[in-house]
Amino acid sequence: MRYAETGYNLEIDLSRGNIERVETDPRETELYLGGLGTNAKILWDRVPPEVEPFSPDNLLIFSAGLLCGTPAIGCNRTIVSTISPQTLFMAFSMMGGFWAPELKHAGYDKVIFRGKSPKLVYLWINDDKVEIRDASHLQGKGAIETEGLIRLELNEPNAQVAAIGLAGENRVYFASIEQGRSSASRLGIGAVMGDKGLKAIAVRGKKDIHVARPGEFMELCNEVLAYITWRNENPIPGVMPILAGLGSPQEMAVHDEKWHTENFMWGNSRVRKKDFWNEEVAREWTQTMESMRTRLISCYNCPMKCGATISVPGLPTYMMKCFSKLTYTMAAFSDLAFGLAIAQRATEYGVDGFSAPQVMAFALELYENGILTEDNFPGMPSDNEGRFYWLLERIVRREGIGDVLANGTYWAAKQIGNGAEAYAHNNIKKHEQLPLKLSMLNPIYFLMYATGEKINITQIEGQFPQAPFPTREEREAFVKDWFQVPHEKFKQYFLDWELRGENSMPYYPTAEMCCDIVDWQERMHYIDDALGMCAGLSSFPLKPPYHMHNYPKFISAGAGIDMDEAKLTQAARRYRTLVRAVNIRRGMRRKDEKPPQNHWKKRFPELEEKLLDTYYKFKGWNREGIPTKESLHELGLDYVSEDFLQRGILTDDEGTH
Ligand code: SF4
Repeated sequence: MRYAETGYNLEIDLSRGNIERVETDPRETELYLGGLGTNAKILWDRVPPEVEPFSPDNLLIFSAGLLCGTPAIGCNRTIVSTISPQTLFMAFSMMGGFWAPELKHAGYDKVIFRGKSPKLVYLWINDDKVEIRDASHLQGKGAIETEGLIRLELNEPNAQVAAIGLAGENRVYFASIEQGRSSASRLGIGAVMGDKGLKAIAVRGKKDIHVARPGEFMELCNEVLAYITWRNENPIPGVMPILAGLGSPQEMAVHDEKWHTENFMWGNSRVRKKDFWNEEVAREWTQTMESMRTRLISCYNCPMKCGATISVPGLPTYMMKCFSKLTYTMAAFSDLAFGLAIAQRATEYGVDGFSAPQVMAFALELYENGILTEDNFPGMPSDNEGRFYWLLERIVRREGIGDVLANGTYWAAKQIGNGAEAYAHNNIKKHEQLPLKLSMLNPIYFLMYATGEKINITQIEGQFPQAPFPTREEREAFVKDWFQVPHEKFKQYFLDWELRGENSMPYYPTAEMCCDIVDWQERMHYIDDALGMCAGLSSFPLKPPYHMHNYPKFISAGAGIDMDEAKLTQAARRYRTLVRAVNIRRGMRRKDEKPPQNHWKKRFPELEEKLLDTYYKFKGWNREGIPTKESLHELGLDYVSEDFLQRGILTDDEGTH
């Protein structure tokens, strides 16, 4: 009997139209857990580095996390993995909502696509009945529209549908996969789906999911629920409101946008508006939000209600959450009403709400600086809002300059030349980061930006406060009930962290402390992504309900795997290293691990080198960031070092060629 997981994957060959139900090896679950962990193993085994993102041999994996569909609160993530057209490295993007639990109830842990369909199709999974169906009538339809049409066509209102829009069909490098209550947006996974000729996956499942020790498991769930309720009533004092509670940042419920609008950058992440927020803007934006936000909504089995349905007059309703509320508004130097309206169209087209506005603002900046000219923008309106709509249409259709911009700022700048590369200044590993430009280097964030392979900073950070608290009394109060720490030393690190003086940034926390902190934060995210847990209840907020001490119990009682903290840490290290191994094999090296040059005004090149050296050593990687033979052996990944040796990536003395 398999617990928590179903023990079966669906293997779909889109070139041949072949569907197989394949039993998986339970030993792999022990080693790599599930979700991201087993996805990484599959990509390592089956996608050699020669395979291009748009090759039929690239795989597109939709995976439920190990505990998805069990009663674990907020455990609903679908982890979508493939090779990204934008970074050329492994992409793993997450979506919440209801899709993954539904897949589990249908009897599968993953759906693995290979090949390319000669015509547009969608997959219909209805428990044991699985079919590839014609989707030619859905060509060009919006992602949310497609969801509705498929449900109607199948006469199955409860089917969960993940779909791409026009951007995915046209292989826009920042195309998303939308799913009604959530989306997997980062790293162009929607483009790979479009390239495979796959418009959507609909799933309906009515089977049971078994839990190893139900009584114990329910007790753990109730503890988590009680903690969520308590934390919601007792936000953490001394931190900004979006970090004081749980869940995704509560952008749909909170109206005060002083912090975002005055600290994040406007336009192509160049302009900071320090005195933007005033009473008039606050009143106007509150009215806009309250008139268009029809309902606050949650994902499967979660009380947090981080998302909202948005109904802009005259437009179909769509779902929004988090910082996408402001990305279009700020990139276009406009107001909230514009941001909410254009996001509706962008969601239907299926583009990443972080990258798409940055790409459009980048195009306008090139235009204003004479690098692109009027000839590149025939018929473009003169107002900013009109220009954004104009650009969105061209990008998703890959028309004219839109064809270049559809490749994201990194590739577009290379193609445009003429100095355009200086304007693509917000990338790391060829991918648009959050539009933040700060003053003093933060050593913890430096390491996360540099070495993160999830690449999006908001999905790497968490657990440790972003900045020191002003007084020792406040710090003491903070650490008092900080039971989530995996080791007491973290409390001391924080207690001694000062705003000024010897124990302040960038030299404090020390390089060694930064390694511990970054490793802890990253580990929690990787565990979430294997279990299918929402980061909003675990790795992202301070003092979350899920942590290193109760996760092993959840895995033991849920999946029946004998787990403790040491084993869980080792498993997370194993598949985190495997993700790196996939990327190292694809050419990633130290040279790629550089945060955008102007991310901080004050940089410290020597310290940054030291931080990287220390962290690489801490992780068991050599000077180039390649996991060493010894560390791979310790993780049971000898097959990786053998491959590295064969390819000349590692030599026998563990150096690099
Ligand atoms: S915390 Fe928010 S984003 Fe996370 S599962 Fe719950 S409702 Fe969804």
